[in-house]
Amino acid sequence: MRDGTPIRRIVVVGGGTAGWMAAAALARFLGGSGKRIVLVESEAIGTVGVGEGTIPPILEFNLQLGIDEAEFLRETKATYKLGIEFVNWTTGDDRYFHQFGQIGRPLNGMSFHQLWLKHRHDGSVGPLSDYSMSAVAAARHRFSHPASDPGNPLSQLAYAFHFDAAAYGRFLRRYAEARGAERVEGKIIDVEQDGETGFVTGLLLDDDRRVRGDLFIDCSGFRSLLLGQKLGIPFEDWSHWLPCDRAIAVPSERVDPLLPYTRSTAHPAGWQWRIPLQHRTGNGHVYSSAHMSDEDAERLLIGTLDGKPIAEPNRLRFAAGRRTKSWEANVIAVGLSSGFLEPLESTSIHLIQHGIQKLLSLCPSRGINPAERDEYNRHMVRGYEPVRDFIILHYHATRRTGPFWDHVRTMAVPDSLEHKLELFREHGRVFRYNEELFDVPSWIAVILGQGIDPASYDPLVDGMPDADVRRAMAELRNSYLQAAQRLPLASEFIDRRVAAA
Ligand SMILES: Cc1cc2nc3c(=O)[nH]c(=O)nc-3n(C[C@H](O)[C@H](O)[C@H](O)COP(=O)(O)OP(=O)(O)OC[C@H]3O[C@@H](n4cnc5c(N)ncnc54)[C@H](O)[C@@H]3O)c2cc1C
Repeated sequence: MRDGTPIRRIVVVGGGTAGWMAAAALARFLGGSGKRIVLVESEAIGTVGVGEGTIPPILEFNLQLGIDEAEFLRETKATYKLGIEFVNWTTGDDRYFHQFGQIGRPLNGMSFHQLWLKHRHDGSVGPLSDYSMSAVAAARHRFSHPASDPGNPLSQLAYAFHFDAAAYGRFLRRYAEARGAERVEGKIIDVEQDGETGFVTGLLLDDDRRVRGDLFIDCSGFRSLLLGQKLGIPFEDWSHWLPCDRAIAVPSERVDPLLPYTRSTAHPAGWQWRIPLQHRTGNGHVYSSAHMSDEDAERLLIGTLDGKPIAEPNRLRFAAGRRTKSWEANVIAVGLSSGFLEPLESTSIHLIQHGIQKLLSLCPSRGINPAERDEYNRHMVRGYEPVRDFIILHYHATRRTGPFWDHVRTMAVPDSLEHKLELFREHGRVFRYNEELFDVPSWIAVILGQGIDPASYDPLVDGMPDADVRRAMAELRNSYLQAAQRLPLASEFIDRRVAAA
């Protein structure tokens, strides 16, 4: 492709979660524009096959695509997720909840957590999670959609999904093909470039077919076939901050009650996820190979399942980090080909969504405009780095000991995280900067949950009468509890929705 060439054919390379999310969104928004959307994937290579926890922005993606939630639940075997329970992350004998959505409500303009920091040792004040609608409902295994009336405590409930990754891929494939996306089955053995511009012109398949295109969306997974291998965009390695580099995943039989949240349990060299789906539980052990052998990691996982395993373990290797650019020439990498942060806060699918949304808002029509390309790359850095810091926080702020935890506890962290922690340690203050994914309540829940205590609270709280604050806090706590007790069990709610689909 040369400068100014109209972009008529968009080729998505890879049919994992990233590939089909991209194809579905492109088909939805460009399907009627005369552009062809072609996706190439190889069943022989397969997909990474994991990635089942999401965060609330997934609702926007579904909304933009016009996906019906009941149908989505039925087809992807999804369950509702209200947050993540972190077990043994602080001392080795503890638990806290990272809720979706707000914590409490501001009083006279003061953040709720500041009131809580001042009054938390009063006998009448409960743990922070008692002031989150999502956390209170989750603790009782209950769920309902958020209320639209802002005065109703249920308006503060926020949710996402757990789903079956393979079923999600099939669901999006049907969606994309119904809107004109074409699928090509075949193994790519070479990527062809224009000798002058370096732009990618086509893919050579192992049966000698050629797939030509004007714009290529590289969703080829960890291989990063186009962006990394062909265009040579370097990988910025973050494994000195995030040393977990292996995972073993194994599904087990469903166990009731169905929990509307992910559980993340810390282990001597990493952690274990537990993701409840309608038909099974997804489990995985993420660990550092420098601190634990594969055999020990597998033994630990199998020994701690709460249901019978129903498939052979899937072993994965990875490194935390990202390509220094996501868009180079006429190639835009989305998904694992662009970068990977381990699944502790279920952010990878969101970063795919972020990449697709920015692609849609900067979609080229003729040639490649360097300003649009650079803008895209800037958004990707702003998307990844705060998420990286948030994940590092979980490892770094701990009192756990042992070779793995000693390393992460004492390591130097990125300056951006250090600054956030310094601010918090003084007066419990947290600020959200431009495109940061996680909002203040998320940082508050995890910083406090990981055991960091600020020296003091915001002095403005002292301007408010203690009795009024205590009364308001008690009313709030009670309103969440009352609202949660009236909700159906998450399993009942799902059954009803699936039946309605
Ligand atoms: C252990 C683990 C747990 C995770 N858990 C979560 C989670 O809970 N939540 C979350 O948001 N994310 C999670 N992720 C990340 C998530 O799995 C990925 O972001 C998501 O699956 C997207 O992967 P992908 O589509 O980029 O790559 P892949 O699934 O690897 O897909 C790559 C595609 O490229 C194709 N391909 C590659 N090479 C060729 C070739 N030569 N020719 C033709 N086709 C080719 C493959 O066939 C495949 O279709 C997790 C990741 C790991 C490793």
